[in-house]
Amino acid sequence: MGALTGQVAVVTGATRGIGNAIARRLADEGANLALIGTRQETADAAAAAIAQDTKVQAKGYAVDVSDFAKVNEVISRIIADFGRLDILVNNAGITKDNLLMRMREEEWDAVLAVNLKGAFNCLKAASRTMLKAHYGRIVNIASIVGLSGNAGQCNYAASKAGLVGFSKSLARELASRDITVNVIAPGFIDTDMTAALPQATREALCTQIPMGRCGKPEDVANAVCFLASPAAAYITGQVLCVDGGLAM
Ligand code: NAP
Repeated sequence: MGALTGQVAVVTGATRGIGNAIARRLADEGANLALIGTRQETADAAAAAIAQDTKVQAKGYAVDVSDFAKVNEVISRIIADFGRLDILVNNAGITKDNLLMRMREEEWDAVLAVNLKGAFNCLKAASRTMLKAHYGRIVNIASIVGLSGNAGQCNYAASKAGLVGFSKSLARELASRDITVNVIAPGFIDTDMTAALPQATREALCTQIPMGRCGKPEDVANAVCFLASPAAAYITGQVLCVDGGLAM
């Protein structure tokens, strides 16, 4: 029996990278899982792999988190399929990096739509069930870039900083119903997202990390699992950096 046995968790962006590690970690603690990605095939494959390894119930769902109406439909379907919703991890995220001088309007809009409005959409759809149940654990995945800023990422940094303000406001709105809202701000984590950076940039970034290594998706997943557990009952509105000391 794990700490989350019998609970139901929704993880967005769970087909790979950090979201997939989060889903696996929650499953290790016994949570049944709804894994969201943009394509049904990859969401199903991720769910099947987790179900096989851990024996929890896991199902894949395809939706673009920036689509308000479709997210509402999918979250309703998840609640109908599983009968409850205890944990929501808003992890889906994208980058479209450029200096402001070169940034196109579409690059700004796309990043804000997925990273910030995507979390709003999922929370609008999921919070009613948590309010009724007088229980919920919400973890939003931001970035240390949302705290410090980063040249070439003004759209991404704005989306992640926005997620911090959104989370703190929501933490205040939901606290009296035993629903916590916290933020994880990862540093430099080895995934497809960072693999897109030039090798020299990756190496330069790693030398700045006090712990001397890039983070692994599992480093983030362990912190999410704690904040999603009953053990974190008295922690809300917090931003926890999982960054090997990079942003302190
Ligand atoms: P990743 O490897 O690129 O994976 C992104 C995930 O998000 C995939 O599962 C993808 O699904 C999903 N996704 C993208 N757009 C979506 C949309 N519109 N609707 C639904 N799902 C969507 O990214 P990652 O590195 O694991 O990052 C995960 C989160 O951590 C992001 O929010 C990112 O900003 C944050 N973060 C990452 C780092 C890092 O160093 N990697 C650092 C700080 C913060 P598909 O497979 O269907 O495309």
